[in-house]
Amino acid sequence: MVIEGKSVYSGIAIGKLEIFHKADKQVKRSRITDVEAEISRFHSAKEEAKAQLAALYEKALKEVGEVNAAIFEVHQMMLEDLDYVESITNMIRSQQVNAEFAVASTGDNFSEMFAAMDDDYMRERAADVKDISNRVVAVLCGSSTGSLLSEEPVILLADDLAPSETVQLDKSKVLSFVTRHGSTNSHTAILARTMNIPALIGVDYPEDVNGRLAIVDGYEGKLMIDPPLPVLEEYQKKKAKEDEKKRLLLELKGKENITLDGKKINLYANIGSVSDVASALANDAGGIGLFRSEFLYLESKDYPTEEEQFKAYRTVAENMAGKKVIIRTLDIGADKQVDYFGLEKEENPAMGYRAIRICLDRPEVFRTQLRAIYRASYYGTISIMFPMIISVDEVRTIKSIAAEVRKELKEQQIPYKEVELGIMIETPAAVMISGELAKEVDFFSVGTNDLTQYTLAIDRQNQKLDNIYDSHHPAILKMLRMIVENGHKEGCWVGICGELGADTSLTETFLKMGFDELSVSPSMILKVREKIRSIDTTN
Ligand code: PEP
Ligand code: MG
Repeated sequence: MVIEGKSVYSGIAIGKLEIFHKADKQVKRSRITDVEAEISRFHSAKEEAKAQLAALYEKALKEVGEVNAAIFEVHQMMLEDLDYVESITNMIRSQQVNAEFAVASTGDNFSEMFAAMDDDYMRERAADVKDISNRVVAVLCGSSTGSLLSEEPVILLADDLAPSETVQLDKSKVLSFVTRHGSTNSHTAILARTMNIPALIGVDYPEDVNGRLAIVDGYEGKLMIDPPLPVLEEYQKKKAKEDEKKRLLLELKGKENITLDGKKINLYANIGSVSDVASALANDAGGIGLFRSEFLYLESKDYPTEEEQFKAYRTVAENMAGKKVIIRTLDIGADKQVDYFGLEKEENPAMGYRAIRICLDRPEVFRTQLRAIYRASYYGTISIMFPMIISVDEVRTIKSIAAEVRKELKEQQIPYKEVELGIMIETPAAVMISGELAKEVDFFSVGTNDLTQYTLAIDRQNQKLDNIYDSHHPAILKMLRMIVENGHKEGCWVGICGELGADTSLTETFLKMGFDELSVSPSMILKVREKIRSIDTTN
């Protein structure tokens, strides 16, 4: 079976399919006739869930030690709890309902009961009982619930993936992302580029394909399920060639980003988490040009503390060993939703309450982050960048808050270093006043993803408009030229950190325009370097 879709990152993946369902998937109630068969379905699913937990226990034991692994043992015991098991089987018997529904309802009931208890230990079990119930429901439905079930790396199929879901995935187990919805510029696509794995969108896959062998062709935009042997062999060969190409690119490690006529440009990496630093280094990034710090918030169940953030930023700064690390302050809202922020639903979220607007409206959140970044600055070379800027006043307010934070740290005798302050140019307003903005900051980094969406009035998430979302539009190219000129006039360095920065058909244009830096997904660094080294800008 071959299903067509749209590729958002090329490459080939071969592996088993796993369907990802939202963690809080609504379980449907249905009436069953064979009660005993349903009860035995439940018992087998329970055994399978226990086997998964036993495997997780072993894995955790090796990776995080006995104390942290113990929770998986507790979960196995909870699955054998007589009250829990009886509640489920009684419900199946007395109400003649499907096992999924009985497990989910019992999970909810027990969880509420535990949560109401006057005992800390039992209250903590409320989340556990929900967790084990979700696992059993997942086994019954033959799907995963917010985390991957298989021990093997898989091709992940999903309706769509929110950033809050992708952050929870064990990335080492994903060979490819294939979604029904999503757009070229969605964060799943960006994540696939960071991970250097093929990704397809707009693929209408059937529901009953869990566990089947498949090929993702990220060049042709195809998902092939149960491919015949000759096709499989052909793709195995293609994949081997691709791996060889990747190996050859690695020979560019340690080489300069220099054109044939001697023009140099900085090539930095975009990262979304501390663990992405490894791939930035493996691909020879000259620095981190964009650390999307909001992923720290997306990964947490509550506001990350100053200490937690400090540790993350410090780790990145130390691992980059003195190379520049540009941390972008929180950019949530729009497609990046975090429950504990309690953001209201908006008619027009991309143009709504997001990014710096939230930070300036909730200064305590902003200050906590700035304190953490300044503290980490002592351990490397950190710069701070602010997203979604539209006015000079905003920048002045930000600078005065940053100055207050520095003063506070000084008074508390907490060390910090000089930190460059820059802004993202990702609104047409910022482009038009880039001359004035340049007087206020040390650098500009162009967010072409949002700049394209706001300039062309095309929602970057809207799959229907993907074909006219054109980052090469003359309006965008004119704006890029204008940003560089205005930035340079005031002594700012100017880079690009949107996805367009990695578009090698424009590398020559960017060099000729005078950009000082391109920040791209780690997997694109060496490809862009290869391109730069083949260009003669005097031609
Ligand atoms: C951009 O808008 O181009 C950008 C780099 O930021 P993000 O994709 O995180 O919005
Ligand atoms: Mg942006």
